[in-house]
Amino acid sequence: MFKKILVANRGEIAIRVMRAARELGIKTVAVYSEADRDALHVRYADEAFPIGPAPAVHSYLHIPNIINAAVQTGAEAIHPGYGFLSENHRFADVCRIWGITFIGPSPAAIERMGIKAQARETMRAAGVPVVPGSPGVVTSVEEAERLAAEIGYPVLVKASGGGGGRGIRIVESPDQLAESLERARREALSAFGNGDLYLEKYLRNPRHIEIQVLADTHGHIVTLGERESSLQRRRQKILEEAPSTALTPELRAAMSQAAVAAARAVEYTSAGTIEFLLDDQGQFYFMEMNTRIQVEHAVTEMVTGIDIVKEQIRIAAGEPLSFDQSQVELRGWAIECRINAEDPDQQFRPSPGTVTAWELPAGPGVRVDSGAGPGTQVQPFYDSLLAKLVTWGRDRDEAIARMRRALDEFVIEGVKTTRELHRRLMDDPDFQAGRLSTNFLAERVPGA
Ligand code: ADP
Ligand code: ADP
Ligand code: MG
Repeated sequence: MFKKILVANRGEIAIRVMRAARELGIKTVAVYSEADRDALHVRYADEAFPIGPAPAVHSYLHIPNIINAAVQTGAEAIHPGYGFLSENHRFADVCRIWGITFIGPSPAAIERMGIKAQARETMRAAGVPVVPGSPGVVTSVEEAERLAAEIGYPVLVKASGGGGGRGIRIVESPDQLAESLERARREALSAFGNGDLYLEKYLRNPRHIEIQVLADTHGHIVTLGERESSLQRRRQKILEEAPSTALTPELRAAMSQAAVAAARAVEYTSAGTIEFLLDDQGQFYFMEMNTRIQVEHAVTEMVTGIDIVKEQIRIAAGEPLSFDQSQVELRGWAIECRINAEDPDQQFRPSPGTVTAWELPAGPGVRVDSGAGPGTQVQPFYDSLLAKLVTWGRDRDEAIARMRRALDEFVIEGVKTTRELHRRLMDDPDFQAGRLSTNFLAERVPGA
């Protein structure tokens, strides 16, 4: 096992990873930008190393500075968390060249799944159902027009290098297609450095269901059930739960089997998530694979009792999985509310500033993963996630009742947050009945 690892991230996920390392008896190195000198993840680590100015391109995304930090501190492995460098196959490869273990999948698996237009083809070949759409990247307006007519409007134009809910556009009719392609290409180029686009049929009222996989370097792959991430604003998740009210045991088995086929097709190792859309006929379609730990992994940990981050670290150290599929049992229900520093009344605009008061909820069935505290300066440079509030109950009703109670206990002052939005959601009869879709929030909250 490793003696020391570096966590190339900040905020709640950096602390989450360090907690796993600490339980495994591994020393931790934090890295920090100039804006994060006093951040909690820096204080939590055994040692900390500065990596540059506040803008992420000069620090958390700057590969030479991160490698230098690992070399200087003698870290044997790097955990990238989510976002930042976590799905950058070049970074994973640079780690390999420097003799540092990247705690994640192989560079080849990251690359094959990261080019989303190409991943669809890999999945189709592996027998995994994909959303109807273009076979790969669209190369001309004429080709796009022909394909969109075949697929049927409305279609989505999606950036092949996209992520984080960005780079997706709805096209309702043929006359909008050429202009949408042009705009999407320009946006994708500036946001992701890659202007490649592909088309997908726009599913009207789908649910977002994803399957967690863990695969070791000895050929074992297990699935840890599903999460439902249908509650989104602007295609970004805000509340997740496990299991999903939409799945029967048969559907869960079928989706899990497809997820294993997907992982096998790219010889996947480490933790990963296969994202699917599920329509109201019970048909599911591969959307993409996230080749990293996800924000919402905690709900799966609550219902399985498996520490996904510790497994990731063990897998990277070459250990076989410590359990097999028959030992995975789903118990009870878990819900996660993302408490973001943003204003739901102002189109979810980020709300940077100083946290003046902060009291965490506690008690039975409550878990909080957070990188903030009293006095925290919420930076405009980074993601607005302040805390993940997770509750567990024997059933969904108990998880909701605990979430309602925990949201009431949670005191945050100084910045606007999504806390009250979540509190209203807990009282929504459709949410309580599990009648969800990816349009749920947009139908209720202006600007979502
Ligand atoms: P990202 O890489 O940004 O996460 P995804 O492909 O996972 O992009 O899509 C993000 C979200 O956009 C999904 O969770 C879903 O709500 C919506 N979406 C994506 N593709 C479709 C589609 N074909 N039809 C309807 N909604 C979609
Ligand atoms: P998850 O898929 O784990 O639920 P999110 O979609 O919320 O997570 O993304 C996690 C973080 O990673 C967010 O900060 C998001 O903005 C960022 N992110 C994910 N993919 C990309 C990408 N391709 N480019 C830039 N940021 C990304
Ligand atoms: Mg996604």
